[in-house]
Amino acid sequence: MSSSIYYCPICDQDTLHQVVESNPAHYSFAIECPICSTVSLANEDTFNNYEDVRMGWDEEVKSILDSWDLQ
Ligand SMILES: [Zn+2]
Repeated sequence: MSSSIYYCPICDQDTLHQVVESNPAHYSFAIECPICSTVSLANEDTFNNYEDVRMGWDEEVKSILDSWDLQ
């Protein structure tokens, strides 16, 4: 079983979702929030790229913070 950070609409935050089923109808994954046990459906692109998008944001924030440190 794999897991990945994903947005949970019930918790209204990013949580480490576990994949509970691969390839349910029309989607690539059914994933479950560990906090509220809500099952979300995600397609492969959204699920696999989510962390990368987040990482991109983090890098951007980090570069902004770094530029502040220099001043
Ligand atoms: Zn949740």
